[in-house]
This record gives sequence, structure tokens and C-alpha cells, in this order.
Amino acid sequence: MALLAACVTGWMGRPAAAASPHPAAALVERGAVAMRSDPEASKRDAEAALAALRGRPDADLEIRARLLLCDYASERDQRALEVQVKAIESLLPRGKRPGLRAGLLACQGEMRETLGDNAQALVLFEQAVRVAAEARDDEMLAGALFSRGYVLGLQGEYALGLADLRRSQGLFETLGLRHHALTAMNGIAILYNRMGDYAQARDIYTAALAQQREAGMLREQAVTLHNLGRAHEYLQEWPEARHSFTESLAINREIRYARGEAYALRGLAAVENGLGKWRSALTLLGQAAALQRATPDARLRAQIDLSRGIALHGEGDLEASAAALRAAIEVFRGGEARGELATSYAELASVEAARGDWRSGYTQLALAKQVSERLLRNQLDQRFATLRVEFDTASKEAENAQLLKDIRANERALAQGRDVRRLQAIVIALATLLVLLLATLALHQRRSTLRMRKLAHTDELTSAPNRRAVLNRLAETLARAGAGPCTILITDIDHFKGINDRYGHPVGDEVLKVMAQAVRDDLREPAFFGRLGGEEFLVVLPETAPAEGRATAERLRERIAAIDLAPICPVGCGITASIGVTTSAAGDTPSTMLQRADEALYSAKRAGRNAVRVCAAAGALSAAVADGAPHDAVDEPRRDELQEASGPATH
Ligand code: GH3
Ligand code: MG
Ligand code: MG
Repeated sequence: MALLAACVTGWMGRPAAAASPHPAAALVERGAVAMRSDPEASKRDAEAALAALRGRPDADLEIRARLLLCDYASERDQRALEVQVKAIESLLPRGKRPGLRAGLLACQGEMRETLGDNAQALVLFEQAVRVAAEARDDEMLAGALFSRGYVLGLQGEYALGLADLRRSQGLFETLGLRHHALTAMNGIAILYNRMGDYAQARDIYTAALAQQREAGMLREQAVTLHNLGRAHEYLQEWPEARHSFTESLAINREIRYARGEAYALRGLAAVENGLGKWRSALTLLGQAAALQRATPDARLRAQIDLSRGIALHGEGDLEASAAALRAAIEVFRGGEARGELATSYAELASVEAARGDWRSGYTQLALAKQVSERLLRNQLDQRFATLRVEFDTASKEAENAQLLKDIRANERALAQGRDVRRLQAIVIALATLLVLLLATLALHQRRSTLRMRKLAHTDELTSAPNRRAVLNRLAETLARAGAGPCTILITDIDHFKGINDRYGHPVGDEVLKVMAQAVRDDLREPAFFGRLGGEEFLVVLPETAPAEGRATAERLRERIAAIDLAPICPVGCGITASIGVTTSAAGDTPSTMLQRADEALYSAKRAGRNAVRVCAAAGALSAAVADGAPHDAVDEPRRDELQEASGPATH
């Protein structure tokens, strides 16, 4: 039974159609929907579409219109079907939708199925599924899956069939093709029926019927009512079966669907048979056979024959019964309808027995038993397989859900990782900034410390080391292990107060600066100097013996006296300095040395200023005398004995 051929509803969203809708497009859409409810209207729409296409050709649209006609013809007119198949074959190379080839293959499959060649039909449906899947044409795929699932069911491959039908139903629902989804649901119920799960089938039919009534799908209702009747028939629920078949018959008559009428009449005859009303059954079967002759449906003919065989047996017409049953068996054997085949064998066995042909009866009974057992085994196998498919589907769904959960968890973990990394980057950046800041601060601090230290050790006016600095350094020099003699000079500007008094304090300051610069210029490493205070400067000459120290003092005195003060004060302004000299001896400290140098200075002042005087340490003096060493100035530690080393002061 060709319950559903290729689906040819619209392929939405095609740019050409959107730009300028072809008048045939709407007709094809409407025809596709009507195919499930009103086949005649569907055929009219398809033919009108073909007429419109003659003025403005469009290969894809024409194929879809012809697929509608194909579907219509597949259950009614073998020759018309062949014409459509040929036409579609020649149109396909010009079409733009590769999935439509699946429609053609499905149509050819329907043709084979109607002829009872299920094996070839299955091959064609397989191809249709492959082509539609490759073309990613979900609509064609849904139709092809439905057809393949249906035939697989016919062949006893219930689990596989069920999987196809469920996929088909899901695709139709996704595509929004509700009518087709319902038809697929119907197909699922048919499979349950075949598996011998009549109660399950009956429940699905009942649910489908309610939806079809609501949607006004007349033809589908007729089919579902027939199938529901079949379920009741298997369950031997005769009144319910009669009710369903009667309603199906009425609808089929209303939509003038002869084949459906024939099915319904056979169903009603089966009910009569079940109730032992053989005459009435035969009358109904006569009507069914007449209608069937107009439509090519081998299986329906066999079903009618089976029911006729049963009724004729009941009537006692054993010859005719056996003939009808043999005819039915012939078809059922080819179509792999095992349930009906088993029933036919069993019935024939009983007829042969009644005729006294025990041998044939026994053979038929053995065959019936064999087929029945095989059917039962298959049904059991398939029920397990179905359970497996269901279990696999459920576990796959659970697996998918778990996978989805895992993916989400991973995404969350990744996001958290990203956050952590971002945070780490921020922390590193902040830490780097902090380190830089601290380093800058430390540098700043160090600089300012150095500056402070320098300030603390520098005389502000002359930029020379101050008293503390120069005395510290002197102490270090004296303390250095293995240090030789160290000579110091104290220079004091003569009558400096007079300069202040005469030219003012600022000029005095400038003179001090010039004086400091003169001393600085005169010295060479490792000698150093500093301002002791006022107009007094201390010069330290490490590793310097008294004679050399005295010579340095003389040179310095001369240099100071030669300073040109013209830029600072009026013409005639000049300075001289008095210098006290002493050289270190063992046990000397800065203090003891300063004391002696001061005494020498005092001696120079007393000698008239602009002079150098030396004051040797007491130990050093006696050592020098004892050695007989040349000592141009026999310096005494006492102030009044200090020897004059230079000429009298110039002013
Ligand atoms: P003598 O030849 O005996 O050394 O006579 P003097 O005038 O140089 O010595 P005295 O100790 O009597 O005077 C020192 C003067 O130096 C007193 C003070 O006003 C001056 N003086 C000290 N420090 C500074 C200073 O920083 N700037 C100026 N302009 N004058 C200073
Ligand atoms: Mg002084
Ligand atoms: Mg002075």
C-alpha cells in the first residue's frame, strides 16, 4: 500500500521564487497539502500547474507537479505512472534542486511496491534516502525515509522500519509539515500492528485520528480508521472493528477514493467472517473485488481472496475456497506478508481436511505452523530489536545530554581559566607597576639621600666640603693602615674683616668663593680640602712629608696673593693669606694636628701675615734632630718659637 509517496510541498526561500512567484508555485504547494486529504484536488492542482508551466517553463516546479501526479497514479494507474517517471527523468538535468531526484526514485519505488515487488522497491527507496541525504534536502529525505520504513516494516524488519519512520516523523515536524508527520505516525502504528503489538497500534491510531480530525485530513482519517479497524480485527473486537471500517468506508466514498473503499469493504467482510456471517461477508467482498479490479493492488486482492476463502469455507464451497486461498498464498508468499500467509495456510489446511485430502491438509498445516513460528520468532526478535532501538535512542539522548553538559562545563572551566589568566595578567601588571614605582621611589630616595648627604657635607657658600666632611676625611686618612706622613695646612685670609667692612658682606662672600676656587685649582689628588669656618680653609696632603707640605703651602700662599679680585671689588682690592703647617706623627688625631696647625697659623699672623709657618709634633722634631735630617725650618711646638717661612705681610 502506497501510503505516502514522495513529498512535494514547497521548498521555501528560493530567491527566484521570492523575486517573481511563478503562478504554478502556489498550485504545487496546495496540491502537495491536498495529496493527504483530497487526492482528486491534488491532481487537479498539479495539472493546472503543468498548464501554467507551458507558458513559462521551470524545471524544478514541473518536476514537483509531476511528482504529485506520480503519487496520485502510483495507487491507481500504472501507465500514467510510467509517463510521469519518464517526464521527470528528462526534466532532472535541467533542474536546480538535486534532492528532487530522490522524489523520482521514491516514485519508482512506489511503482514497484504496488506491483508487489518489495525487494526492488526497497532498493529504490534506499537510493532515494541516499540522494536526499547527500543533497541535504530534508523534505525529500523525510519522504524517502517514510517509504523505506514502510517497506522495511512490510518485510518484517520492524526495528529498522520503526527507526526510519520515527526519523521521518521528526523531520516532517521540524519542517512544519504536520500532515506528513501524522502520516508517519500512522506508519509507526502500522509497524506495531505487524509486530503483533495490536494494543499499542490501536492507541497510536486513536491518537493520530484525533489529530487528523482536528486538521480536517479526510483521506488520512480514512486510512487511519481502516488501520484502527485492522487492530480491532486482530484483537477480535468486532463491534469496534465494524465501527472503524464503516466510518472509513463513508469517508472514502466522500472523497471518491475507490481503493480505500475496497480496503474498508474487505475489513467489514472480515468482521462478518469473525461473526460467522459468511453470506454477508461474500457480498461485501464482491463489492471490494469489483473496486479493486480498477486499481492495481496485488496485496489487497490477496487479502480479499483470503477473506473470500474463509467465507466460502464457511459456506461449504470447498473447491472455490481452496482456489481463493491458493491465489492469496501466491501473492502473500511474494510479498512476505507472513501473518496473512500463515492464516491462509491454516485456513487451506482446514479446507483440505474438510475435503478429505488429509495429506494436503497436513502439508498446509505444517506450512502454516512453520510460517507462524517464523513470524512469531521474527516478531519477538523485532520486539527486542525495537526495544534495543528505543534503548539506544534513549541512551544516545542521555549520552548527548551528558555530552552537552560536559561541553557546558568545559566552556565554564575555560571561561574561568580565561578569567584567572586575565586576573593573573592584571596582578602581574600591577605588581610590575608596583616594582617600578618602588624602584623609582628607591632611586628617588637614594638620590635625595645622596643629595642630603652631600648637602650635609658641603659648605653652602663655596661648595667646598664643610668642616665635618674635611675633618672626617682627615680622620680616615690618619687611620688608614700603613699610611705615611700626612701634612695639613690651615689658610686664613688676612684682615678679612676689613674687606667686609669696606666693600660689604656680599663682596666678602664672593671673595670667599674665589679663594675656595683658588685652593681647589691648586690641589692634585690625593690632596683634598674643606672650609673650616669663616675665612679659614684646611688643606690635607696625604703621603706628604713636611718639606713638600711646606713647599705646597708656599705655592698656595703665592697663588692666593696673585688672585685678581678686579671683577669683584674696586681696583686695588686684593687678599693675602697666612698658612699654618704641620705633619702627622704617631698617635696624632685630627684634633691634635689642628691644634698644632693653628699654632703655626697664629705664628704666621704674628710674623706679619702673608706668611707660612710650620709647627712640628714634639716627637717628630726630636726624631728629625736625632736623624740629622735636613729640616729647613726647625719648628718648635711653642708658638713664640715658630720659624718664619715667608716674607712679611704685604699690607
Ligand atoms: P686676621 O688677619 O687676624 O685674620 O684678621 P681678620 O679680620 O681676618 O680676622 P677676624 O677673626 O678678626 O675676622 C674674621 C671676619 O670674617 C669676621 C667675620 O665677619 C668674617 N666672616 C666670617 N665668616 C664670613 C662669611 O661667611 N662671609 C663674610 N662676608 N664674612 C665672614
Ligand atoms: Mg680667622
Ligand atoms: Mg683672618
